[in-house]
Amino acid sequence: MKVKVEKDTCIGCGACTTIARDVFTIGEDGYAEVTEEYRDKEIPEDKQEEVETAKDSCPTSAIETE
Ligand code: SF4
Repeated sequence: MKVKVEKDTCIGCGACTTIARDVFTIGEDGYAEVTEEYRDKEIPEDKQEEVETAKDSCPTSAIETE
């Protein structure tokens, strides 16, 4: 699994960063982004559940997984 945040859709609510703080962070622009550690990288199995929870919790469906 890889994950990305659609910046045009994100409203910067911070929910994803609370749920999966190692994977998401709020960038200087005030919107969420994937942390450098996991950007364009395979998400390890022990983080996948919290990424799915963050995705399901995002109010604007800005989190995409593939
Ligand atoms: S939960 Fe969604 S809208 Fe909120 S900061 Fe994360 S990506 Fe943006």
